[in-house]
Amino acid sequence: MLLLNPKRHDRYYPDERSREIMRKTIAWFEARGLKKVKQDDFDRAWYADFLEFVQRERLFATLLTPAGYGASDCRWDTWRNCEFNEILAFYGLAYWYTWQVSILGLAPIWQSPNEALKHRAAQLLEEGSVFAFGLSERAHGADIYSTEMSLTPQADGSYRANGEKYYIGNANLAPMVSTFGKLADTSDYVFFVADYRHQNYELIRNVTASQNYVAQVALHDYPLSEAEILSRGQDAWDACLNTVNVGKFNLGWASIGICTHALYEAVLHAANRRLYNMAVTDFPHVQQMFTDAYARLMAMKLFALRAADYLRAASPDDRRYLLYNPIVKMKVTTQGEEVINLLWEVIAAKGFERDTYFEMAARDIRALPKLEARCTSISP
Ligand SMILES: Cc1cc2nc3c(=O)[nH]c(=O)nc-3n(C[C@H](O)[C@H](O)[C@H](O)COP(=O)(O)OP(=O)(O)OC[C@H]3O[C@@H](n4cnc5c(N)ncnc54)[C@H](O)[C@@H]3O)c2cc1C
Repeated sequence: MLLLNPKRHDRYYPDERSREIMRKTIAWFEARGLKKVKQDDFDRAWYADFLEFVQRERLFATLLTPAGYGASDCRWDTWRNCEFNEILAFYGLAYWYTWQVSILGLAPIWQSPNEALKHRAAQLLEEGSVFAFGLSERAHGADIYSTEMSLTPQADGSYRANGEKYYIGNANLAPMVSTFGKLADTSDYVFFVADYRHQNYELIRNVTASQNYVAQVALHDYPLSEAEILSRGQDAWDACLNTVNVGKFNLGWASIGICTHALYEAVLHAANRRLYNMAVTDFPHVQQMFTDAYARLMAMKLFALRAADYLRAASPDDRRYLLYNPIVKMKVTTQGEEVINLLWEVIAAKGFERDTYFEMAARDIRALPKLEARCTSISP
């Protein structure tokens, strides 16, 4: 019951809408089938049909709009978002990534005092938009102190933004790209929103060779008014770190989804493969590796479940999440690599076959410890 089983998804849900979201998402991927998922992966095909499904079923709207800003079924519920992370990654990390960067893009908005921008985000979610988080810069990576994106105040009280961002997921179609910069006159940090459709927003290229669009973008004298400012000074800095805190926690859940699918596939293959007149699963060393992989995956899940409680309970007085959250980010994700290594020892050549989920998992599991930086548990 602890591991996701798409063939028998009968987990407890406190409300019907949550159950519907999870079941419909599983059904959509099951109908799509592994063959199509893999073909799209080889072709690096843009997942427009997945985003249409998200829009039609109002999935991101329900899951990512805090209570009070959207329809009655909307609430930001870490518990069910963890499960959604797990389901998406179970089928393909590319689908998870567009959800993940939407979370990153939305977090500075929901933390902002700018109510008008919050209502705009809620409306866009309802319309099926995705969101983007413009933090990283090409030359500075994890060193956000060195941010060069610059906002120059104008005589009329507006601003002009200039600079580049690098590795920005969904930046090819997000109407609100939460962008981190500094004010040119005071060097104060600032978060603002940019629209990918604006003529002064240049989408330079996709810097990855994947299904995702992970963009290099430039703002050229991009005009901004006070209405597009999310936060400034210490608030902007805190929104930045808190966003990464929320986002990096999801990485562990994505690892769990990948490892669960890979485990099922590996067991199925090994149990049906006969060598020397016996099933591969009868070899003692294979049993040992499967047991090891299973125990690690269970530990990943149990630890992440506990950490979800601390994330949900987090408050100025309850800061246990500060310990548990980075461990989900680094330990759970690196254990995910270990699980895949063990499974690969069992299935050997099969792990290279184009028809397998595993072939994709072996690549994607490596990404998770590397995303959302390594330094973001620290603050200045
Ligand atoms: C596929 C993909 C998607 C991404 N999507 C987004 C996105 O949507 N939005 C966005 O803003 N960014 C995004 N990123 C950027 C990502 O967050 C960065 O990769 C991350 O911030 C780390 O930067 P870097 O990879 O340039 O590593 P670098 O900053 O070059 O760091 C190199 C190494 O230095 C060490 N190091 C760095 N800082 C510290 C420290 N403080 N303490 C100890 N060691 C340290 C670590 O070992 C680290 O691995 C994405 C990246 C990828 C690959």
